Amino acid sequence: MIKAIVAGAAGRMGQRLIHVIQQSPDINLAGAFERPGHPAVGKDAGQMAGLDKLGLEIRPSLEDVIADGDVIIDFTAPEATLANIRLAAKRGLAMVIGTTGLADLSEIKEHGRTMRCVLAPNFSIGVNVMFYVTGLIAGIVGRDFDMEILEVHHRLKKDAPSGTALQLGRILAQAVDRNLDEVAVYERRGLIGQRSDEEIGLQTLRAGDIVGEHTVMFGGQGERLEVIHRAHSRDNFAQGALRAAKWLLNQGPGLYDMQDVLGLKEQRTKEKG
Ligand code: NAD
Repeated sequence: MIKAIVAGAAGRMGQRLIHVIQQSPDINLAGAFERPGHPAVGKDAGQMAGLDKLGLEIRPSLEDVIADGDVIIDFTAPEATLANIRLAAKRGLAMVIGTTGLADLSEIKEHGRTMRCVLAPNFSIGVNVMFYVTGLIAGIVGRDFDMEILEVHHRLKKDAPSGTALQLGRILAQAVDRNLDEVAVYERRGLIGQRSDEEIGLQTLRAGDIVGEHTVMFGGQGERLEVIHRAHSRDNFAQGALRAAKWLLNQGPGLYDMQDVLGLKEQRTKEKG
C-alpha cells in the first residue's frame, strides 16, 4: 500500500487529492499538512475535504508528517514546494509536484539527480495523451491541412490563450518545422484576406463555469479531423497525480514528467526507430 502525504491539504487541489486517494484501493492517506497558521490546521483531513472523519489531523508542516509516508503530492505554491523538496531529498521521499509558476527549475533538477520526482504543469491524463496524438497527426497531415486551436474556459480565467493551448500550438508548429511565434494568429477581425498555409490559429472563448476544453482542428479539403479534450472537474489532475505517484515508486532517481509516466516518450522513440 502506497503511503501518500498531501501538501496544501485544504487547497482546491489538496481537497480533490484527498477525495481520490480515499477512492483508491492501493493508496493510503498517510499525512496531510498546510501552511502554519492556516485555519484548517488541527482539523480532520477527511472532514475538511467534505468526507467522513478519517482520524488524521492536518498538521502545520511537512516535518510533522514526513516519517509517515513514502511520497509527497504537492500542489501548493513555488516557495512552499521548494522548501518541501529540500526536506524530501534529505529524507529520501519521492515527490509529485503540480505547483505551477516555479520560475527557476534548477534546484528541482539538481534534487532529481538523487531523488524520485515527477513535475508536470498539467497532470491530466487526457491532455497528455492529446499532446501526443496531436504531434502524431500533425506530422502526418500538418503540411497539407490547416491547423487551428480553440480553447474554452470559465469566465474567471485571467490568462489567454491557456498554457495548454500554447503547448498544443508549439507541438503543431514543431511537427511541421515552423516557429509558433512567427505563425500564430490570435485574433481575426475585419477584412483579413485569405488564410495563409503556414498560420496556426489559436482562438479563445470565455463563458460561465466551463472547467476547460481544447480542440485541435486539422482542416483539409472535403474533410476535417478534430482532437477534443473536455475537463469536467479538477479530479482529472488529481487522478493523474495519483497515477504518477504509483509509477514513480517503481523508478530510480530522476526528474520525470507525465509523458514519462504514460510511456509516451518510449512510444515516440519506437515510432521513430
Ligand atoms: P489553492 O490556493 O486552492 O491551494 C494551495 C494550498 O497550498 C493552499 O491551501 C495553501 O494554504 C497551501 N500552502 C501554501 N503554502 C504552503 C506551505 N508552506 N505548506 C503547506 N501548504 C501550503 O490552489 P490550487 O488551485 O489547489 O492550486 C495549487 C497549485 O497547483 C497552483 O500552483 C496551481 O497552478 C497548480 N495546479 C496544477 C495543476 C497541474 O495539473 N499541474 C492542476 C491544478 C492546479
